[in-house]
Amino acid sequence: MFPTTYTDIVKRIETVDPISYGKTRNYIDGDVSYLSPYISRGVISTRQVMEITLERGFQTSEIQKFLQELAWRDYWQLIWLSKGAQIFEDLRHPQPQVQHHDVPSALINANTGIEAIDTAIEEFYQTGYLHNHVRMYIASIACNIGKAHWWAPSQWMYYHLLDGDLASNSLSWQWVAGSNSNKKYFANQENINKYCNTHQSGTFLDVPYEAFNDFDIPERLISTVSFHKETPLPTSDTLALNTEVPTLLYSYYNLDPKWREDADANRILILEPSLFKQFPVSKSCIDFTLKLGENIPGLQVFVGEFDDFIASYSPNEIYYKEHPTNSHFEGHEDTRDWMFDVKGYYPSFFKFWNLAKKELKQLEA
Ligand SMILES: Cc1cc2nc3c(=O)[nH]c(=O)nc-3n(C[C@H](O)[C@H](O)[C@H](O)COP(=O)(O)OP(=O)(O)OC[C@H]3O[C@@H](n4cnc5c(N)ncnc54)[C@H](O)[C@@H]3O)c2cc1C
Repeated sequence: MFPTTYTDIVKRIETVDPISYGKTRNYIDGDVSYLSPYISRGVISTRQVMEITLERGFQTSEIQKFLQELAWRDYWQLIWLSKGAQIFEDLRHPQPQVQHHDVPSALINANTGIEAIDTAIEEFYQTGYLHNHVRMYIASIACNIGKAHWWAPSQWMYYHLLDGDLASNSLSWQWVAGSNSNKKYFANQENINKYCNTHQSGTFLDVPYEAFNDFDIPERLISTVSFHKETPLPTSDTLALNTEVPTLLYSYYNLDPKWREDADANRILILEPSLFKQFPVSKSCIDFTLKLGENIPGLQVFVGEFDDFIASYSPNEIYYKEHPTNSHFEGHEDTRDWMFDVKGYYPSFFKFWNLAKKELKQLEA
């Protein structure tokens, strides 16, 4: 489902159907792009996807939905940059009606009794991917129906997602759970049937929307488990470092083969155990990362903290790309590609988007 060679990845950008995307993206079998694992791992950028798509001759007005969804990624990233670790706590309001801090077992075991959700979770364990609408359904079932605080279930999802992105993930969970939005998101069985092509009835979600105003946790969601996982990190390569040339540091969030590609440099993928202890990911995520790293010639893997790398190898000049997970790195910081010049914290996406749209108009002019 997710090829890892750079050629295949660029081909995937070139074959997105951004017009059909606008009409079908909410359906589980809609024309979505499946680009997120590559954007999250920093192989490609949102700007690159926008530019390649516009070069294919589409007008911004006809592919606005696609550009807008891409912009959500940058929007969440900008909030992470502005708010730092606050995004890992209730950002704007305390989440209402929290009854526990665990994960409903029925989600982990793909046993909610809701066919579309259970099938999607089973596939998720195989592929590391979930459709956006299904992510929203799952978060709503966990937090708004099952009354879990969003943090533990979000970590369960992040652990398995090949496209795990701490900003998109934490802030989307909070958007659904009402701690980063003005109301909680609910979907009933009829909505799930419509977008997932099922015809199920009689589930705990088979109710009119008014019923959610006063809803007890259904029997299926009573049992919960705490979520504790470890990341199966690989072992470090035996590094061969040329101290005469600069060292480029790649990370879980930057695997861009085009970044300083002509430089004569050491290329090191640094996997810091402290990051993966705080935010664990599955073996599939690590394997996927290492495969994507094969697009970068001569990339060597160092598993350890930044300070230990410096102390052990005394590298010459260090270069890295700006990212919140690298804020403690020292050296030359390169900027990353953003879609727009709009920067900073906007409490509402649409305030951000209205400014971004002005830049889009200029692009077309
Ligand atoms: C509860 C929840 C958790 C999420 N966790 C993550 C996560 O850890 N990592 C992640 O990359 N996305 C996350 N998302 C956002 C979104 O679901 C995925 O980016 C999208 O489903 C990826 O599939 P795609 O590439 O086929 O997306 P498409 O629909 O084809 O969209 C194209 C690109 O636009 C961006 N995008 C689209 N929708 C969103 C969105 N709602 N928020 C941010 N960016 C978006 C992505 O970069 C995506 O690759 C989450 C959403 C929810 C509701």
